[in-house]
Amino acid sequence: MEHVDLLIEHGHVIALDAAGRRIPDGTIAVKGGRIVAVAPGPQLRDRFSADRVIDASEKYVFPGLVNTHIHSFQTLLKGLGRDRPLLDWLAVSIRPAAPRLDGEATYLGAAVAAIESIRSGVTTVVDYNYAHPRPGLADAAIEAFAAVGVRSVYARSFSDRAFGEGAGPLVEPPAVFLADIDRLAAKYDHDDMVDIWVSPSAFWNMTETGLKETAEFAADRGLAVTMHIDETVVDDQDSLARFGRKALPYLADIGMVNERFLAVHCVHLDDEDIEILRRSGAKVSHNPVSNMLLGSGVSPVQALAEAGVTVSLGTDGAASNDSQDMLETMKLAALLQKVTRRDPGVMGAGQVVRMATMGGARALGKEDLIGSLEVGKAADLFIYDPWRAKSSPMHDPVAALVYSSGEDNIRTTIVAGRVVLEDGVIVGVDEADILRRAQRAAEDLIRRSFGRSPATT
Ligand SMILES: [Zn+2]
Repeated sequence: MEHVDLLIEHGHVIALDAAGRRIPDGTIAVKGGRIVAVAPGPQLRDRFSADRVIDASEKYVFPGLVNTHIHSFQTLLKGLGRDRPLLDWLAVSIRPAAPRLDGEATYLGAAVAAIESIRSGVTTVVDYNYAHPRPGLADAAIEAFAAVGVRSVYARSFSDRAFGEGAGPLVEPPAVFLADIDRLAAKYDHDDMVDIWVSPSAFWNMTETGLKETAEFAADRGLAVTMHIDETVVDDQDSLARFGRKALPYLADIGMVNERFLAVHCVHLDDEDIEILRRSGAKVSHNPVSNMLLGSGVSPVQALAEAGVTVSLGTDGAASNDSQDMLETMKLAALLQKVTRRDPGVMGAGQVVRMATMGGARALGKEDLIGSLEVGKAADLFIYDPWRAKSSPMHDPVAALVYSSGEDNIRTTIVAGRVVLEDGVIVGVDEADILRRAQRAAEDLIRRSFGRSPATT
């Protein structure tokens, strides 16, 4: 008998692998954070003993979801500046508050984001973090993710050009942010739990020099880049005014757009832009809830998928969502394409779940590690309890996950073999304490940023 760390028994396994395997009464064996067997239970019953056994009877086991775009500090700013378009919203919420963040607030914002992620079945997040008014805030967020136990890509973001009202305080010179990325990569990027990426905050927030130095730096270090692209028409307007070309063609010309480029939003694309994404092998993060909340428009994700571009899903920051709930994002991703194309046949539940799993894995270049339940991959998964009124009666677990689920259906979440949510309880940190401290930190941040109490902002 082979001894393993963990056995998950009697679950209905939805593997979401290439073959689309579904295994009623399945067993998953986990050792060293990896899946060493996934098969019908009776085949494995006498093969393994384990330190720990989880009984998943009457439950479903899915691969963990991948949220390819958050801004963890924005968790502190939920609900601020509502009902305004992007640049107005930035001016009355993010821009006054971000320069006043400290380590404690940043840690708590990231911890709340990570807790909510795990509670909605997410096992990997990309934190696109552009608020660095003082040293050490990146470290605070990364440490919060580690404490809660979520796998992370920390995309150290920056701007070197003040564009619009209140943009000045977050501007940094390229030498400063590029050196900080080198520091973070040396300190944290040692295993699969944390990756460090490069992240110009937005096209209009970057000088020509800053964009070119960033593209060279990422190519030189072999680091991936993620960037807000064409969230609104302002990217192309600014690029046409400065460079005589639209934003994506310009970025492609300077070597920024390649198979390790994750373009976020991609709402305002034309055929030339889609062709650039297709030809370069770049990936897309689709953030439907944020796009709807800010009235940015509808990304042509069905057209991107049909062109063969990898599309993943993100919630965006909680200040333009206003949560980190990937279940809600999956549902709205499906509904938004259906209503826009007036065709209920587009963006089915199966396609959406694959965008949130293997789509996310491919977007991060981690398709050999995460995104499906297969031998050799990381044990990143969640156990779904269908016995809730919202999801009952159930006919198709994939349709139920997308259309009829809430975080209460997600009972147990496992990342790299570590149980981080255990039958509804967060394991790594004291959740109640984190939520109370985050509330105080958020109120304090609002007071310092706006000079008045949160109730009147
Ligand atoms: Zn964003």
